Amino acid sequence: LYDFQGKHVTVAGLGVSGVPAAKVLHARGAVVTVVNDGDDARAREQAAELEALGITVRLGDGATLPEGTELIVTAPGWKPDKPLFRAAGKAGVPVWGDVELAWRLRGPDAAPWLAVTGTNGKTTTVQMLASILRAAGLRTAAVGNIGVSLLDAVLGEETYDVLAVELSSYQLHWAPSLRAHSAAVLNLAPDHLDWHGSMEAYARDKGRVYEGNRVACVYNVEDKATEDLVREADVEEGCRAIGFTLGAPAPSQLGVVDGILVDRAFVENRQKNAQELAEVSDVNPPAPHNIANALAAAALARAFGVPAKAVRDGLRAFRPDAHRIAHVADLDGVAYVDDSKATNTHATEASLASYESIVWIAGGLAKGATFDELVAKSAKRLRGAVLIGADRALIRDALARHAPEVPVVDLDRTDTGAMLQAVTEAKRLARPGDTVLLAPACASMDMFTNYNQRGDAFAAAVRELEAGA
Ligand code: ADP
Repeated sequence: LYDFQGKHVTVAGLGVSGVPAAKVLHARGAVVTVVNDGDDARAREQAAELEALGITVRLGDGATLPEGTELIVTAPGWKPDKPLFRAAGKAGVPVWGDVELAWRLRGPDAAPWLAVTGTNGKTTTVQMLASILRAAGLRTAAVGNIGVSLLDAVLGEETYDVLAVELSSYQLHWAPSLRAHSAAVLNLAPDHLDWHGSMEAYARDKGRVYEGNRVACVYNVEDKATEDLVREADVEEGCRAIGFTLGAPAPSQLGVVDGILVDRAFVENRQKNAQELAEVSDVNPPAPHNIANALAAAALARAFGVPAKAVRDGLRAFRPDAHRIAHVADLDGVAYVDDSKATNTHATEASLASYESIVWIAGGLAKGATFDELVAKSAKRLRGAVLIGADRALIRDALARHAPEVPVVDLDRTDTGAMLQAVTEAKRLARPGDTVLLAPACASMDMFTNYNQRGDAFAAAVRELEAGA
């Protein structure tokens, strides 16, 4: 176990990960200094709470490396090219993220981690996995960006047999010594490139999840980049590469045969070469991308030794989170669907592929993405488009290039009332049988606090139209 006694540790960033990290490190005897870029009311409140414990906090200065720092524990979102990290690199000071900290703090008989990363589907897959593990009678939790925090999971009162852990590319970037029991990379598409600097750097950070795996590296047969990452990873002897596919599975794969999820990787009965797990209709909702998520969750559970029946029971018990292809209302024969969580082009492509005739509401912060491929692939499904948010011109131009016949309403406003106008315009464009789909392909922070608030604004606007109809 790492000994923090007397160590000078700098915590970079207050907030959801920084405050609990500072407290834990302080309790373990470290001399803690927190540095934070911002200096607003919320930061001052958090600083006061930490200072009362004897922790030093520097507000409004996240750039300077405090004298004598031996270790930095950073909020995962802090960009690697920040001056603080450049200074740390020069001084040979290691940098850990919240995941690395949790990993180092876990006790000697800690529960193994089944880890999930990927551009899209992480939360859904981790929740499916936890549901399957629970159905097998195991004590578990879905941890990471959802549910229980990682620190609470490894330090809290509760004991677990196994953890279902969601990991972002940021978290993996800052987690050099993490070693999972088994891990899955669901898919790999451009996202957060402004943070990582390049697609190669992004892929490398995602690939970290496989490093040191003991039992299985789960990859997506339909996404070759994920298989490449398995090949490049340094794993424990005996660790297997396990593929999942929406088609018929080869040996060492899970897949789909005649509407049945089938496992050819972990077959219990040696007389058989395949094990039936569940029906496609057990997956909620049974959209193609979500069946892929279910197969990945099943692969990790099976790698942990979970029986087939628990996979079926766990998938049946699973309910998706809000703002993920959530049906809000039907109005004059038009369905209104909230997929506010589609914050990048890859998720939005899956979302648009789920409907035939769509009035698409999109836009926000593009995070360095381009939209040509998405629009070209989805053009034939579009009845119309309504664009909102800061980077909407990028989508407008892609529509002009690849779908010139699709009517576009370009809303030049970013105030909170814009969503009602967007939904009103979408209603005007829609015909009976169409779907009005909020799948923005962008982050929400130009107009909203987060994707939840954006989805709520959409649902509220639909209700307003419903009331007025
Ligand atoms: P994450 O935690 O990775 O953001 P979520 O499960 O919250 O993933 O889903 C995010 C978005 O991605 C949703 O809008 C959903 O429609 C879409 N999505 C989910 N799974 C997949 C997948 N396997 N491939 C592509 N898109 C997906």
